[in-house]
Amino acid sequence: MAKFCANCGNELDENADLCLKCGALVSKKESKNAQTNVDVDKQATTGFTFGLTSIITWLIPLFGYITTICGIVYSAKGLKSTKNKTKATVGLVLSIIFLIITITNSILGVINAFATV
Ligand SMILES: [Zn+2]
Repeated sequence: MAKFCANCGNELDENADLCLKCGALVSKKESKNAQTNVDVDKQATTGFTFGLTSIITWLIPLFGYITTICGIVYSAKGLKSTKNKTKATVGLVLSIIFLIITITNSILGVINAFATV
C-alpha cells in the first residue's frame, strides 16, 4: 500500500521517512491519516461531480436515481474532508434536491400513465 505525506498529501516511497516534496518527517501513523484525508477529499470531489451531473440526469429516470444516490453517499463521506468540505456540501444539497425531483418526476409519470389509460 502506498504511503502519503501527512503534511502535503504527496505520495511517498514505501521506505521513505522524509517527504521529498515538503520535507516533513513521516511516521507510519501519520501516513495512514494522510491516506484517509486523501480518500475523503476524493469522495468529496466525486460527490460534487455526481451532484452536478444530476442537474442533467434527473431527466432520465434510471440515471437520475443512480447519480443522485451516489452523490448523496459520496458527499456524505466527503463531509469529513477539510479541504473539499464546500464541494461535499454543494454535492449533497444538489443530490438531495434532484433525488426529490427524480422521485416526483417518477410519481407524475406513473399518474400520467394511468390517466391516459
Ligand atoms: Zn509532504
